[in-house]
Amino acid sequence: MPKVAIVPCESYEGDNIERAVTEAVELVGGVRQFVADGERIIVKPNLLSPTAPDHAVTTHPLVVEAVCGLVREAGAQAIIADSPGAGSPHREDRFSRLYEATGMTAAAERSGATLNFDASVTQMSCPEGVGVKRLEVMKPVLDADAVINVPKLKTHSFMMLTLATKNMFGILPGLAKPGHHAKLRLADRFADMLLDIQTIVRPRLHVMDAVVGMDGEGPGRAGRPKKMGFIMASADSIALDAVACRIIGLEPPRLPVLAAAQRRGWWNEAGDGVQVVGASIEEVAVSDFRLSSAVVGPGGLVAEKWYEHLLFPLMRDHLNARPVPQRRLCTACGTCVKACPEDAIRIVEGLAVIDDAKCIRCYCCHEVCPEAAIDLRFTWLGRLARRRGFMGQARY
Ligand code: SF4
Ligand code: SF4
Repeated sequence: MPKVAIVPCESYEGDNIERAVTEAVELVGGVRQFVADGERIIVKPNLLSPTAPDHAVTTHPLVVEAVCGLVREAGAQAIIADSPGAGSPHREDRFSRLYEATGMTAAAERSGATLNFDASVTQMSCPEGVGVKRLEVMKPVLDADAVINVPKLKTHSFMMLTLATKNMFGILPGLAKPGHHAKLRLADRFADMLLDIQTIVRPRLHVMDAVVGMDGEGPGRAGRPKKMGFIMASADSIALDAVACRIIGLEPPRLPVLAAAQRRGWWNEAGDGVQVVGASIEEVAVSDFRLSSAVVGPGGLVAEKWYEHLLFPLMRDHLNARPVPQRRLCTACGTCVKACPEDAIRIVEGLAVIDDAKCIRCYCCHEVCPEAAIDLRFTWLGRLARRRGFMGQARY
């Protein structure tokens, strides 16, 4: 029976985080159940972009530090590793800035962990895959004895939320990510690919940072840091994600990744077999959590050929938000150009310009923009559809 631990934690101050992470891991069996003496353990935070911790775009370094400390206590070596967001080059020379800006350099120093600078990747076949049959994965992750996943609770403009299961998308190198967005345009298909990752790498433990999460227009800088006040832990990412949904008042099957897990028989809506330990869902419930306004709907599996030929064009042009770069904020840095899977963005006279005919509404550009310069705008029909609840509510 998968256990999901919830431990209240008011802030990142003092020894709050070390205490809460230790207690959460104890509640699901203790670190020695997941880590053996002498092992090399990848500790995988969410390092979407080189952003300071107070923006809540990345896992807080104190949570990563606490997890690395537990790994060390168990006699193993912790290696902090992630690949940044879509379109970011997965190169050794980029890692230093990422680690420095997100506080990982200091977290590694304090906890005795090492930072991964190995940018090699490996092609893996995925015979049991439903969404994909091959995946390019960071080689150090495969070379390690195990992975501990350390996600952040955040909204996501395409996948609704980025929790434990979605966080493992980060083990694919940054430049491989847009290709999956281009091929898997339907949220359900993309969710299938996220589950396929678990057929290659299944972390032994997940510890989620929800002390300050993110709601609104996440997962990048446009999102709003949201005080939530807890840490979660589980050996099962699906169970953890389902409990996290209930905490923010979202029916779990509405999350594409949980709907996909349900189709595979990995999880059921009743949450049979999931045991919540520590605090209850009600004790930490967040009543005013806002999803991204761009969340793609309707949910559920639509026959792909109908989606591609009929529903997708309708949704793209009339119902889904259109990404629009803002001249007053855009610095013409080109990050969105590299992230776009459809080559739809050009820099013209100091401004990112999107060719709307090419845009598939994946929102990678919005996710990676370091200036929060890309607005998501609806047509009047899109606004009406949202008001009527057809596209899913933005507020729960
Ligand atoms: S929209 Fe954002 S990511 Fe794109 S060029 Fe402008 S500042 Fe850079
Ligand atoms: S311009 Fe469109 S296709 Fe390109 S990254 Fe942005 S949302 Fe995706």
